[in-house]
Amino acid sequence: MNKTVTLACGNGGEENNELISSVFYKAFKNEILEKSEDAAIIHGGALAFSTDSFTVSPLFFPGADIGKLAVCGTCNDLAMMGAQPKYLTCSVIIEEGFETRELERIVRSMKQELAINGAIVVSGDTKVVPRGSVDKIFINTSGIGEVLKKGISSNNISEDDLILVNRDIGCHGATIFAAREGIEMSSPLKSDCESLFPQVKALLDAEIKITAMRDATRGGVSAVLNEWAKQSNVCIEVEEEKIPVSDEVKGICEMLGFEAAALANEGTFVLAVKKEDAHRAIEILKTFENCSRATIIANVTDAHLKKVILNSSWGTKRFLDTPSGELLPRIC
Ligand code: MG
Repeated sequence: MNKTVTLACGNGGEENNELISSVFYKAFKNEILEKSEDAAIIHGGALAFSTDSFTVSPLFFPGADIGKLAVCGTCNDLAMMGAQPKYLTCSVIIEEGFETRELERIVRSMKQELAINGAIVVSGDTKVVPRGSVDKIFINTSGIGEVLKKGISSNNISEDDLILVNRDIGCHGATIFAAREGIEMSSPLKSDCESLFPQVKALLDAEIKITAMRDATRGGVSAVLNEWAKQSNVCIEVEEEKIPVSDEVKGICEMLGFEAAALANEGTFVLAVKKEDAHRAIEILKTFENCSRATIIANVTDAHLKKVILNSSWGTKRFLDTPSGELLPRIC
């Protein structure tokens, strides 16, 4: 391992995984942590518990801001375990000189998003550090959710499942890149940042047989599929042309030289659903405003490759690997 932590170590991909396993997992090793789920399942399966820190730059961007992101990020990780977000903490590290008006705007966004989840902030912490010690504001939220459906796990995916996404992918990563580079888009590109609990609740209410769910944040859909292939010891075969990508995101990807599947999302999730329920799940997802392109993107085979295969529209096959290198730092 490197002697120093590089930016790539925070990419949500290969180097990030390496840092987590060689430093944190090694030290904190326990059965709950090693399940590597979006949220820890504790208290006999009744509660989900998760934490996330937010450092996005710029703080305000089309579709959301750091406040909305800080609530969505943690609440979505709880929702991905079939849990209703309930109680959050909110810790902020603020740079000296930060405008109170901007802080109020960020907190207003948090309040709005908490209401969508039916969650409340019950504890918090505020630190102010000298100018230059942080860039404007960093926020940490931790959350506890009540598990509505037990047994959802990224370790149980099998060839009886189909893999779905709830919408077109890559909007958050593309939006942050465009905002940072000052790229003017001719058509509206905005972050997908959104609370996913309402979609999860609708699927659970309809008794859709969900094996696993994961929000495709840093590392994008590629990272999720690779994590799942490893955790469940399966092979996932993706049909490239079925992955929904908007023209705006495709354009940004060409500029960046990135694959849309490696771009970060904040309101996009991947689902493994029992085959017989997959079409019903898509119909339910499509009733949500941003999910008109919900679709099946992959199937699962029991070839114990722990790999993701991408089938192109020209009939070629290649591995879709976990993203690596310096992707976009400070994306969330
Ligand atoms: Mg997650």
